[in-house]
Amino acid sequence: MALQILVVDDSPVTRKMVRRAIGLCGLAVGEVFEAGDGVEALRQLGAHPVDLVLADINMPVMNGMELVERMSADPALARVPVVVVATPMSEQRIERLLDIGARAYLAKPFRPEALRDLVLEILGRGGHHG
Ligand SMILES: [Mg+2]
Repeated sequence: MALQILVVDDSPVTRKMVRRAIGLCGLAVGEVFEAGDGVEALRQLGAHPVDLVLADINMPVMNGMELVERMSADPALARVPVVVVATPMSEQRIERLLDIGARAYLAKPFRPEALRDLVLEILGRGGHHG
C-alpha cells in the first residue's frame, strides 16, 4: 500500500530535501503533496486524503503548532499522524507539541533511514514486510 504524504514547510528548498528523503527512505510512497504554511496544508488535506503529514513549525500565515491544533480539533483530520520536522528545539517545546497532538518530532536535517524507522513505528508496520 503506497503512502500518500503531505510535506508542509515554508522553505521550498526544505520541501525538496524532505521529498528527496522520502524518495530514498525505502517506503512505498504514492503521491507527495506540498504546502507552504498551515492554511495551505488544511486546504490540501481537504482536497487529498493522506496517510502522514510532515510539518515544519516556523511558518508564516499559520505555523505548525496551530496546524497541529486545528487538525486535532477536526474529527476528519484528528487521526492523521503529524510528524513535526523542524530545527532542534527544547524538550519542553517537544513535550508541548506532543501534548497538542503531534505524533512525533524529527530534527532537521535527518537521514532517510530515520524517517523510515519513524514512519514504520507510527503506522505500526515495524518488522512486517508486505
Ligand atoms: Mg520554517
